[in-house]
Amino acid sequence: MFHSLRQKLIAAYLLFAFLGFAVIALFSSAMMRKHTISLYAGQLYSEATSLAGRCSDAYQGTSPDLSEITPRLETAASCHGAEVWIIDRNGLISADSGHTRAGTAISAFNPADRGNRLYTISRFYGTFPGDVLTVAAPITGNMNTYGYVLIHLPMSVIEDQSYGYLNTVYITGLVLFGLSFLIMLVVSRAVIRPLREINYAAKQYAEGNLTYNIPIHSHDEIGYLAGTLNYMSGEINDMEEYQKNFIANISHDFRSPLTSIKGYLEAILDGTIPPELYQKYLGIIISETKRLTKLTESMLTLNSMDSGRNTLNRTNFDINRTIKETAASFEGTCGARGITFDLTFSGEIQMVWADYGKIQQVLYNLIDNAIKFSHDQSVIYITAQEKGEKIFISVKDTGIGIPRKSIPKIWERFYKTDLSRGKDKKGTGLGLAIVKEIIQAHGENIDCISTEGVGSEFIFSLPKAKEL
Ligand code: ADP
Repeated sequence: MFHSLRQKLIAAYLLFAFLGFAVIALFSSAMMRKHTISLYAGQLYSEATSLAGRCSDAYQGTSPDLSEITPRLETAASCHGAEVWIIDRNGLISADSGHTRAGTAISAFNPADRGNRLYTISRFYGTFPGDVLTVAAPITGNMNTYGYVLIHLPMSVIEDQSYGYLNTVYITGLVLFGLSFLIMLVVSRAVIRPLREINYAAKQYAEGNLTYNIPIHSHDEIGYLAGTLNYMSGEINDMEEYQKNFIANISHDFRSPLTSIKGYLEAILDGTIPPELYQKYLGIIISETKRLTKLTESMLTLNSMDSGRNTLNRTNFDINRTIKETAASFEGTCGARGITFDLTFSGEIQMVWADYGKIQQVLYNLIDNAIKFSHDQSVIYITAQEKGEKIFISVKDTGIGIPRKSIPKIWERFYKTDLSRGKDKKGTGLGLAIVKEIIQAHGENIDCISTEGVGSEFIFSLPKAKEL
């Protein structure tokens, strides 16, 4: 029925205004009527009492002389729009302000009917065509009640007066409701407009336009929501860019070894490569397949670290021994190029609390890089030093170094410096990205200090072993 938020707000407001008016009308009209009646009754009663005091003298003779009193009755009546009577105990009207009823008897008149009420509302024994408010004050003297001063005020006068008051209340209510309606419209506009903007932005994002920026800068909940959505779309956009680059890199890195494998195999099949050279080219093919395997494994490792599936399996182990074992696994490569290791440990056994397999991989990648980018006949320095609650491990070479502007980028996936491209054709550019992920998963840090042409040093920390 009501499709928009604004329609719902307006409908709710109108319902509230209607109910508000109904409540005001119900309670205030009854209260106003009661209030006006008691106000009039009080005034008329004091008027009647004062007239009764004056009449008392007129009754001192056997027959009352009311000629002097009558003008006073007229004045009192004209003042209030009422009718004033002087009536004796038997119901005979002796004088009245309108000069029409004197001598008339109201046979049913019984002063006791009034009880102890200040006023009555009735047609006064059928005398008036409509309801009148009647107050009565006894005329007394010499321990006698001679009669009564009655003042009758038509209820229409009281009702007119009370409607007058009520109108003021209604008008005030209307003005208040009108003003609050305007305020509600302004506030709803202030809320609905940004919601529409956000809705439009959500459609843009769904259509793939992730660069759309929601133009809301207010410092309230809606402003914060818009800010969060802008941030979210920016992040998704970056992620999309990253994935595009990632896929482009993967495709490139897979295509080149596959192309060379295919080329060599075709050449072997069609006889371009003679059988005596098979050994050499099959060796190249094997090394290309090894590269593909390494690339796939690295990507799987990174993927599992990204998705958080690869939780750490921490144990206490001796980092010195792990370093020695990993360095020893490179003996073949190092021996051929005359590269040696210089290992320094601040203690004989240094236990750390980490994932053994993953730290082995970190050391393997760092030492592998240090060898790849070192000159022949050089030394690679590896140290493990205890400082406070941590052990700091450093792998340092005196190789080609890394250009200063490339240092922040070496941790990015698929990044290779231009210097390394010629030297390291087999590199994937994923090794350091994996190293960083592993060290961060341990809640630790890794740093690189490098000078082009001088060498590079990679330092990371690990927590010391926990007492079990
Ligand atoms: P890769 O598998 O290609 O070695 P990494 O992520 O391990 O990939 O390294 C990224 C790049 O950082 C390398 O291509 C190289 O340019 C640079 N790099 C890493 N370690 C060293 C080092 N010890 N000396 C010089 N350059 C290095």
